[in-house]
Amino acid sequence: MKIYYLIIAFILANTIVPAQQKTKTENVILITLDGMRWQEVFNGADSSFMRQQQHLKDGNLKAKYWRNDLTERRKALFPFFWNTIATQGQLYGNRAIGSKVDITNNQLFSYPGYNEILTGHADNERIHSNDKMYNPNKNVLEYFNSLPAFKNKVAAFTSWDVFPFIINDKRSGVYVSTGWEPIKDKKLNDREQMLNQLTQSLPNPLGDVRLDAFTFYYGMEYMKKNKPRVMFFAFDETDDFAHGGEYAAYLNSAHYTDRFISELWDFIQSDPTYKNKTTIIITCDHGRGADAEGWKHHGQKLPEATQIWFAFLGPDTPSIGEVKSGQYYQNQIAKTMAALLGVSFDGEGKIGDAIDGVVKR
Ligand SMILES: [Zn+2]
Repeated sequence: MKIYYLIIAFILANTIVPAQQKTKTENVILITLDGMRWQEVFNGADSSFMRQQQHLKDGNLKAKYWRNDLTERRKALFPFFWNTIATQGQLYGNRAIGSKVDITNNQLFSYPGYNEILTGHADNERIHSNDKMYNPNKNVLEYFNSLPAFKNKVAAFTSWDVFPFIINDKRSGVYVSTGWEPIKDKKLNDREQMLNQLTQSLPNPLGDVRLDAFTFYYGMEYMKKNKPRVMFFAFDETDDFAHGGEYAAYLNSAHYTDRFISELWDFIQSDPTYKNKTTIIITCDHGRGADAEGWKHHGQKLPEATQIWFAFLGPDTPSIGEVKSGQYYQNQIAKTMAALLGVSFDGEGKIGDAIDGVVKR
């Protein structure tokens, strides 16, 4: 009888406990730039759009981002991507050389895109608006938070205030910081107090969207204090400025975000909790149109808005730089995050496979 129970216990333990850790990655940081086009990621600034500046003008745009040489031009806009990730990590989605990444949902806007990234599958039946509706689908952040090794070590810092609903913080228990509410904590440090003072005393040009610098620096303080094992930074300005036809502000936001990621990587590689055991994943929720009007928009009327990109940097990811072939999908991110951490995420229904080339075997 006792042996019988032991066998049952053994079987249960082996079905419930995820696969053994076989990777060097112990922490994963997911970063998204809302509606950031692959065209600028791989080609740099487009000079033919540069005159499209409405309220947020920048007279130095050409000097800052235009170079005749393509490799220099993209480096000027995204220096961390092209100096560090291109030499130590992987970049997918340069369609000009045959690397394709697409979304699989047929909505081509934000909530369906983040749902696909975080749950591993499109849900066109239920996720077809940006309304503040609690997501019925189980997401990968929630899955991590349910594992003892990750419990309360999963957090999201997001600019757009729909994220608590997308991540379903009520059900998932994942800590989600969003919008313009000041951060609450028993012990706020000087930097957090300063950020709280600023959020309460600056105009808010983007309505429900918190400016990305607040999202980033609040998130950095959180990381230093709490050492989360899974962190999600969701930046938003690029999409807002693109909709406004503000090409200068769109480029500047992309450039600032590249710098945030560089600062984050410096922190990771200087902190013993994270150094050489953290992978960062960078992507976007949807693409945009291609021409002088289309770049501002996305949605079902612009089929090229399915075109996205992703980047990986970490100890398990071979340094192959720009990937030159293949077709990949947004629904592969969730399982790839889990594979990097040596666990298996099955999600609900059929979900995208982990990207083989990202996790060294
Ligand atoms: Zn948008």
